[in-house]
Amino acid sequence: MIMNLNQLLYKEELTRDEIIFLLNLKDQEELNLLYSRADEVRSQYCGDEVHLRGIIDISNFCEQNCVYCGLRQENDALPRFRMTPEEVIETARVITNLGIFTIVIQSGEDAHFDTDIISYIIYQIRQKSNAAITLSLGERTFDEYRAWKIAGADRYLLKHETANPKLYETYHFKQNLSERLEHLKFLKSIGYQVGSGNLIGLPMQTVEDLADDILLCKSLDLDMAAFGPFIPSPQTPYQNKNIGEAELTLKVTAVARIVLKQVHIPATTALDTIDALGREKGLTAGANVVMPDLTPFPYREQYKIYPGKRGSTDDPLVSTERLKKRIEALGRKISYKRGDSLKIDVQT
Ligand code: SAM
Ligand code: SF4
Repeated sequence: MIMNLNQLLYKEELTRDEIIFLLNLKDQEELNLLYSRADEVRSQYCGDEVHLRGIIDISNFCEQNCVYCGLRQENDALPRFRMTPEEVIETARVITNLGIFTIVIQSGEDAHFDTDIISYIIYQIRQKSNAAITLSLGERTFDEYRAWKIAGADRYLLKHETANPKLYETYHFKQNLSERLEHLKFLKSIGYQVGSGNLIGLPMQTVEDLADDILLCKSLDLDMAAFGPFIPSPQTPYQNKNIGEAELTLKVTAVARIVLKQVHIPATTALDTIDALGREKGLTAGANVVMPDLTPFPYREQYKIYPGKRGSTDDPLVSTERLKKRIEALGRKISYKRGDSLKIDVQT
């Protein structure tokens, strides 16, 4: 393709071929142009505030066997835990006291946390604060999604992981991509703010697949999209595979920002795990969100999706203050609001 990079970066709509071209950039000067254009689009559509989302990992039991994940059911070496509802509710209180007004309740697919228990947790958190509640509990039934929305949940995060249906089945055995997409569409239809996204650097994945991931995020009209590198996890079939690259993750983040515009995009913990300046690089290549893991001890260290997770042994207060300083050092402001979808008008 003969194309002036600057012209391409300012085009209103990018074709699949143009996205692939951008994802294939290697020259550092050209990459800097890409990141700086993504930063400009982020500033124009999302502003300079960085939204913090406090994650509580409530259970590491999982009924699925995603081939890349340390929590997969067949990993017998992992000690399993479940937080009690009261521990979850108390942790949510600690998070809002830190000035973070989105609580992300995350776990493996664990039927123990049924309709009633999750509804109870949501209801109790909602009674005590106006913080946004995001659920990330995997694929659950449509009745459960509906009940939790009525109980007061605001958002649901369910990554599509890969837009390539064949790879999806390779990575997930029992599940398929079309079902996952049905879940995402249903969640949107009943009023959730919906987040999805992919893993970068999985075995067999191509740059074309990554372009399709970005285009899929666009067609789903997401409110949030997360792009994180694959990190090989022990005791999984992919333990000896290559790690996802930080640079490719940044390229996907930047191109996604240019394509998706007013969508929340996090600088992921996985990126910060493989690159000491991962948060900073993500936040200056299009990201506007950071999602610190604020699960209490001893559980946090046991939520081993992948090894060496950054911040997995830090005190929540200390790590949040450190994170805020890293963000402010970039000249960005911390948001003390819920940071709802930029596509709807529900900010309080
Ligand atoms: N079970 C829920 C689900 O799958 O949506 C939520 C928890 S799951 C651990 C959260 C995310 O972790 C997944 O969407 C996946 O992208 C990511 N993940 C799993 N294994 C990973 C790995 N080895 N490296 C990086 N990210 C991983
Ligand atoms: Fe379970 Fe989620 Fe890990 Fe898959 S990615 S094994 S559903 S925790």
